[in-house]
Amino acid sequence: MNLILMGLPGAGKGTQAEKISEVYEVPHISTGDMFRLAIKEGTDLGKKAKSFMDQGALVPDDVTIGIVRERLQKDDCQKGFLLDGFPRTIAQAEALDVLLSELNKHIDHVIHIDVPQEKLVERLSGRRICPTCGRAYHVLYNPPAKEGICDYDGAQLIQRDDDQPETVKKRLSVNLEQTQPLLDFYKQKGELVAVNGDQAIDQVFADIQEKL
Ligand code: AMP
Repeated sequence: MNLILMGLPGAGKGTQAEKISEVYEVPHISTGDMFRLAIKEGTDLGKKAKSFMDQGALVPDDVTIGIVRERLQKDDCQKGFLLDGFPRTIAQAEALDVLLSELNKHIDHVIHIDVPQEKLVERLSGRRICPTCGRAYHVLYNPPAKEGICDYDGAQLIQRDDDQPETVKKRLSVNLEQTQPLLDFYKQKGELVAVNGDQAIDQVFADIQEKL
């Protein structure tokens, strides 16, 4: 199953992606995670991406499309994949179509996790991430068993730089402008399925499973 997960920052993409990836046995491919890893490792890709990410801006399409092209050709994508955070622009969506037809693949479903915008700022500023395993928590809605500590590996949770309030607002406005044309693009192709993301995590996942 070849899937794309869409939704504004804070809609719960990462949380649902983890569940989808486990249940449907497809790799979770997050371009944001790939860029963050590249920055941490100090690679050329990381150097290119850092200045854009620090400002809450999009990394240029050619760089982003290049890393997705490489990733989708890996062995673990042969039975399916779940794209998260890509495509973010129509140019990326069109490039993805070309790439998939070259690889003799197609997208099965584009899942849109829909959450009212006013809820997103609240969600994002309460988000905490485990720097070791990447799992996401929320101080109110999805807290770890022990405050500030990852349930899985005991690491001290952190707040991502781009979850700081000023960067959050910038990211939301960049995303808002970009997301609607993409939703229209996939709706026209008949690939879009919308799920109400303003519900408990397990209910959102149950709705996704029902639609798939
Ligand atoms: P995310 O974790 O998806 O919120 O992404 C964090 C940041 O990584 C974004 O604010 C962008 O700077 C960059 N990024 C992630 N995915 C893309 C993409 N598809 N196109 C351009 N930039 C991206």
